[in-house]
Amino acid sequence: MKEKDLISVIVPCYNEEEALPIFYREIGKIIRKMKEVNFELIFIDDGSRDKTLDIIKRYANKDKKVKYLSFSRNFGKEAGMYAGFEAANGDYVVVMDVDLQDPPEVLIDMYEGVKEGYDSVCLYTTSYKKYPFVRRTLTKLWYKLMNKISIVEQKPGAREFRLMNRKMVQAILDIKEYNRFSKGLFSFVGFKTKWLEYEIPERTVGESKFPIKKLLSYSVDGITSFSGKPLKVAMYCGLFFCLCSFIAIMFIIIKTLVYGYPVQGWPSLVCIIIFVSGVQLFFLGVIGMYIYKIYSEVKGRPIYIVRERNDK
Ligand code: UDP
Ligand code: MG
Repeated sequence: MKEKDLISVIVPCYNEEEALPIFYREIGKIIRKMKEVNFELIFIDDGSRDKTLDIIKRYANKDKKVKYLSFSRNFGKEAGMYAGFEAANGDYVVVMDVDLQDPPEVLIDMYEGVKEGYDSVCLYTTSYKKYPFVRRTLTKLWYKLMNKISIVEQKPGAREFRLMNRKMVQAILDIKEYNRFSKGLFSFVGFKTKWLEYEIPERTVGESKFPIKKLLSYSVDGITSFSGKPLKVAMYCGLFFCLCSFIAIMFIIIKTLVYGYPVQGWPSLVCIIIFVSGVQLFFLGVIGMYIYKIYSEVKGRPIYIVRERNDK
């Protein structure tokens, strides 16, 4: 008879000394409830500067289920997730935020879902009431834009809180790219996903580790990782300006032939030059962003560097 299934719970933590004990207590309750499965908890300390690692080590000393990896510096949540996928031994793997915005009790429904035959079960929300207005609005706009231009479909409001089977995790691990955008990668690899709707609860304690600046750069990463449309827009803009200038040249030639050559219009000329240079610089920036991505991929630097771990 096959032994019990093993679920690996990956928990990326960045300066989470306050949230960790609450998380550990809550996940413990679910682990005790779900007797039909075994669990391993993989904490990823993403270069925290507070007592996060000490707390994790304390848990690891008394609890054999606890594994940890501690990064040499802050590499970001994406790197944390990837490290977790690599370290996981489970038949099923799930990524959970430590702030309980991904409620552990949902694991019961998720496990039922994968047992029904789905390859993954994921949560999504249709409202972001718990997030500030600016973040909420930008998030909604981002999903609209992304679904218009990206090569993969993004379920609006999808979380990274997703229980996946081994096949799907392996497919994600096989994607070795350095600039990782997991939400997109989950859609990219496909597989059969069951969606469960939920309301995102408030963060238990502490502050979001994604300030607006980090979030904006994350959003741009998502677009450049899964869409070449901004480059096309640059091309169409170029064509449009060529056409405009051609019409203007024709107009000036005909006007000069008919009315002679009275010099006029310098201010407007200067405005046009500045405007067009602005547009050119902007799109040079867009192209530059893609080139930078290629540059960072080609260098082949590691996605994360481990300072210490207890599983190897
Ligand atoms: N996180 C991380 N590295 C970072 C930023 C965040 O490992 O550089 C972790 C964080 O500790 C948390 C999860 O990623 O467990 C989600 O972060 P947070 O709750 O701050 O994001 P939000 O819910 O506001 O999107
Ligand atoms: Mg959170």
